Amino acid sequence: MLKLEDNFPLKNITTLQIGGPAKKFVAVKTQEDLIEAIAYAKNNQIPYLIIGGSSNLLIADEGVNGLVIKNEISGIESISHLGGVTLKVKSGTILQDVVDYAINHNLAGLEKLTKIPGTVGGAVYGNAGAYGQTISDHITRVVILSEAKNLKTLTKSKCKFGYRNSIFKKNKYPIIEAAFQLETGNPENLQMAAKAVAWKRFVKYPPGLKCPGSFFKNLVAADIPEEILKNIPPEKIVYGKLPAGALLEEVGAKGQSLNGIAISDRHANLFINQGTGTAQAFYNLAKTYAQKVKEKFGITLEPEVQLINLPPFS
Ligand SMILES: Cc1cc2nc3c(=O)[nH]c(=O)nc-3n(C[C@H](O)[C@H](O)[C@H](O)COP(=O)(O)OP(=O)(O)OC[C@H]3O[C@@H](n4cnc5c(N)ncnc54)[C@H](O)[C@@H]3O)c2cc1C
Repeated sequence: MLKLEDNFPLKNITTLQIGGPAKKFVAVKTQEDLIEAIAYAKNNQIPYLIIGGSSNLLIADEGVNGLVIKNEISGIESISHLGGVTLKVKSGTILQDVVDYAINHNLAGLEKLTKIPGTVGGAVYGNAGAYGQTISDHITRVVILSEAKNLKTLTKSKCKFGYRNSIFKKNKYPIIEAAFQLETGNPENLQMAAKAVAWKRFVKYPPGLKCPGSFFKNLVAADIPEEILKNIPPEKIVYGKLPAGALLEEVGAKGQSLNGIAISDRHANLFINQGTGTAQAFYNLAKTYAQKVKEKFGITLEPEVQLINLPPFS
């Protein structure tokens, strides 16, 4: 039996601590409950939205006029074979739990994703990554729930992973499970890599910071037209990307604030709720500085954070 809640305050669960009420809300722990929740939305002709850890969301102050389904279907299954180990991970599993599992079993390939908040489903949806590693690097298959309510397995190439992108951003199919093929790594190296990343992240995102991670996507250097790229100092390109923060810094974003939303004075792509911020103030501040970047560099910044019930940026 589903435990549906009315007018659930979404700001209580987003890392940004912003977001109006969901008309209906339910947390699901099994696949059957997920199917039942989707059926409920369809039968009542209301839209539904599946969320994980709510760590990459900017939800309108008006909230969501539909059913928000919080995915808590979790579990890790390990299968050993000649090529290494396959981890079959349910999409509501906390990403850090998988990272820890891999490190504790001397499996390489996920360690630099340490401390990225949220679930495996959210990470697959946005192809989350950090420090040169992405969630899709070792994915072999993703299981989704198709329109016919059947489970469907997509091979990696069908997932169309790109920089912070995947087919799931287009088709919105519920992600149920992801399979990772991992090889044995050196335990000390894995621990050290994860520790180094954890420290950098601790400094960038002190505990309790109310934010949704970086707001804008970085730019793939190879995709930037030559006439624009020639005006960018080469040392600004990191891991083949031009950080959006570098452009925002050039237009004076660092340290700015508006109605309870501040832009970090250390990272110009980090927008923080100071406690009283609203989604509208966040949106307006981000849009102002995106426009300044457009005017100065001719580059259109695209949000990495998912805008819920807010107009698209461009
Ligand atoms: C402090 C901080 C640091 C961060 N650092 C990074 C970083 O280094 N790299 C990075 O890539 N991101 C980073 N992020 C952003 C965020 O943590 C990631 O995008 C994360 O993968 C989102 O997962 P989630 O479960 O919270 O997704 P949510 O925010 O809940 O949802 C994000 C999107 O995924 C969709 N979705 C979620 N689950 C499913 C599912 N099962 N099926 C279909 N769609 C689904 C939602 O509908 C939504 O559109 C950071 C965020 C914070 C707060």
